[in-house]
Amino acid sequence: MDTKVKAAVLVKPGHVEIREFDMPQLGNGAAICKVLMAGVCGTDKHSYRGETVQYKGTENEIDLPFPIIQGHEIVMEIVAIDEAGARNLSYDGDELKVGDRITICPDVVCGKCWYCKNIPNYPWCEHLQFSYGNMRSCDDGNHLYGGFSQYIYLEPGTRAYKVPDGLPDEMACFTEVMCVTYTLEKAREFSSFSLEGFNFGDTVVVQGAGPLGIAHIAMARMLGAGKIIATDISDYKLDIAKAFGADVVINAETTTAAERIALIKSETNGRGAEIVVECVGRPEVFPEGLKYLRKAGMYLEPGNFVDCGGVDVNVHEICANNLRIVGMTNHTHTKYKTVMEMMLRTKDRFPWERIFSHKFSLAQTEQAIQTSMTKDSMKVLIDPWA
Ligand SMILES: [Zn+2]
Ligand SMILES: [Zn+2]
Repeated sequence: MDTKVKAAVLVKPGHVEIREFDMPQLGNGAAICKVLMAGVCGTDKHSYRGETVQYKGTENEIDLPFPIIQGHEIVMEIVAIDEAGARNLSYDGDELKVGDRITICPDVVCGKCWYCKNIPNYPWCEHLQFSYGNMRSCDDGNHLYGGFSQYIYLEPGTRAYKVPDGLPDEMACFTEVMCVTYTLEKAREFSSFSLEGFNFGDTVVVQGAGPLGIAHIAMARMLGAGKIIATDISDYKLDIAKAFGADVVINAETTTAAERIALIKSETNGRGAEIVVECVGRPEVFPEGLKYLRKAGMYLEPGNFVDCGGVDVNVHEICANNLRIVGMTNHTHTKYKTVMEMMLRTKDRFPWERIFSHKFSLAQTEQAIQTSMTKDSMKVLIDPWA
């Protein structure tokens, strides 16, 4: 095994440096993995821009501890693992061994607090301080806690998932994003009430056709959506949205809010959509999105994961229209294996390869993050061995 490891370190917002670390010693119940590929997430862009407060107003509120090795959408190969790690790191009970290709859920929870015990399928842990590529500084512990690195160190408590054979590395990197679409399954839970939540054939509007938006379009289609409408400011992204099954696309740069609302009403017999999903990651789109809904429609909010401030909302409209607003921070760790198998199963049904617009080397990490912020990029990947 190599003795030195190169990693891209976000020293502070707006400043990435390539640093060299000593290869850590393998600890009890841990694993060391070679990073094969990592995706740049919306969260990584926010951190780079200095929008670094997450989980505001909760027990987990954190202002990110710099320096950080970013990257939490990672596919990796195990290069060192002990017996305890082989037994305990796999979420699905697979025996792990050197050479296995895996991905991980970024969040490591305590397993002991009220949330971990009572609502264990979510990373709502009251003591959540460990999230790969995001919440733990590379000055800490075994340093290598992010995917923009040649190697990563998996601490005990990490949930790892074997990647099925035949699923390309790029798609394995997209697993975490697809897991966020659990928001739509949440909306389906309400379908047991008459015409509430997300029923078969319902209209779904997705605000924002970046990688998270496309993931929701694909999932909405698989879960039986009727009309799917996507909005974005990039025609390039809207074109991909169409390829994934959006029936109607609206360029938000060349239309006014009033036009968009009118168009969505006219596409839904004058009533409005049953479901709107916010995948822009900016609070400004929220008040308008509420106006896309029909009475008792449901607004899903997985996009504003980072605190970007507030907006004015006319609360009366929520009351008058019986709107249901469902916030979803992060994602459940229970769906990784299912999501990977589903992506493999639909390899020919969806043009998954169109999601991956750029690939950069580790030395180009800063360029990769900047590229991911441009209008005409989708999921940007980093190959640390390129
Ligand atoms: Zn992510
Ligand atoms: Zn906990």
